[in-house]
Amino acid sequence: MIIVELKGHDYLYQVKDVIKLFFENNTVEEKKQVLKNKSGIVIYTELKKKENQFELETIILNDGISCYKNAHQFEPFSPIDESEEKALKREVKRELYIALSKYTHQEFPWGFLTGIRPAKLVHKLLNKELNYREIEKIFQKYYFVSREKTQLLFDIAKREKEILDYTKPHMISIYIGIPFCKSRCLYCSFTSNPIDKYKNSVSYYIKALKAEIKGVKQIIKEKGYQVQSIYIGGGTPTSIDKIHLEELLTEVEKTFELNNLSEYTLEAGRPDSITREKLSLIKKYSVNRISINPQTMNNKTLKMIGRKHSSKDIIKSFHMAREIGFKNINMDVIAGLPDETIMDFHKTIKDIKTLNPESLTVHTMAVKRASKLTENNGIIDFTPNKETPLMINMASEYAKEMKMHPYYLYRQKNMAGKLENIGYSKKGFESTYNIQIMEEKQSIIALGAGGITKIVYPNDDSIKRSFNVKSVELYIDSVDEMLKRKKSLML
Ligand code: SF4
Repeated sequence: MIIVELKGHDYLYQVKDVIKLFFENNTVEEKKQVLKNKSGIVIYTELKKKENQFELETIILNDGISCYKNAHQFEPFSPIDESEEKALKREVKRELYIALSKYTHQEFPWGFLTGIRPAKLVHKLLNKELNYREIEKIFQKYYFVSREKTQLLFDIAKREKEILDYTKPHMISIYIGIPFCKSRCLYCSFTSNPIDKYKNSVSYYIKALKAEIKGVKQIIKEKGYQVQSIYIGGGTPTSIDKIHLEELLTEVEKTFELNNLSEYTLEAGRPDSITREKLSLIKKYSVNRISINPQTMNNKTLKMIGRKHSSKDIIKSFHMAREIGFKNINMDVIAGLPDETIMDFHKTIKDIKTLNPESLTVHTMAVKRASKLTENNGIIDFTPNKETPLMINMASEYAKEMKMHPYYLYRQKNMAGKLENIGYSKKGFESTYNIQIMEEKQSIIALGAGGITKIVYPNDDSIKRSFNVKSVELYIDSVDEMLKRKKSLML
């Protein structure tokens, strides 16, 4: 346990955020008069106001012995005109990052930037008319982000900008969630229920979803929105039977102006849910982008993570999708899966290169609170894979060989090696939806159990969210309430 004392501020959340970078398995507890404590690691941080300046004092003790002590004066640094409080919170994080780096002799590629969407900050700085050199300085000298990650962010921000600049304020995107899968993957934190257990609920679920689609159509009409992209995800949408899948696709076709869409994605996800009939149906209903997600091409890992298919099934499904005419296929992989070596990852990425999809998303293994890995703590002893950074570099090299470039990026808490998830694509195959969801410049109306609607207010860049219930049963019973929640955001 790490004990902290805050004086002159109450930024415990920010303090914990930084401590977790260095001591991910330790709990953090706030106490008073910690400097008298004689055991364990103790961190003291005090903020004082001195005329127009502030002073921040940070002390680290271990078993009562002083290991770090520094006090520095500063004026709040705010390159994006935020409130003084936000700037102060960041300064507390920065000072603590410096202290803990010196104390532990550790540094991280993203410095103390712990946010999920680092490219968003680049866009904000670009909007303030800072040039890349000035932004580079802020990232490297202020946030301590490595040169490689800064460059990666710039590459991504430039590519995203083309799509973001094209987006008009009345454009929105639609997300439709199908919360069923063949089985639950070990690391899954999404709204996903085993289809075999829920097969009798599917017709009720689709009926509720159709009611929500109709309600959203009304909202779109009233507000004069134009739908830019549709994303059907989950779960695994192809895990439901063909009849219900067609019922859903028909409703989408009837409701939205598909000819005006820049992208219509459906996650075919797992090969054990894919059939030729379902793929043909998806194609017939104008879906122009699908995902077939292996995560790994190693059979032993597929089995261990709870997948009920082999790597051969992935290859078969991919070829089937090509034969049916899909010209835009994405594949997802995970670097740092339990027990995988760099050689295992090499096999995965080499097989993907042979398949030659249009885009590739490389996730870094993250242990999320809602996953079986944490529920079953102890059944599988997962320690972050030390080879993950090498795997991420290998994926980047292979992406280059596949003529892909990075085009979106996001980070999560508890990621192995404090890294990131990166989407790569060939030129012209960047997913509009993925960029919009990451950069939060566009409202996204989410339908189905677990959907989170985000309404962006361009005037002040603020965002309001409404949450659909996660439980399938509750969703079926309360779809009218879900619509009411959405409408209330738009008053
Ligand atoms: S396929 Fe995706 S949504 Fe389904 S259980 Fe696995 S990780 Fe979760």
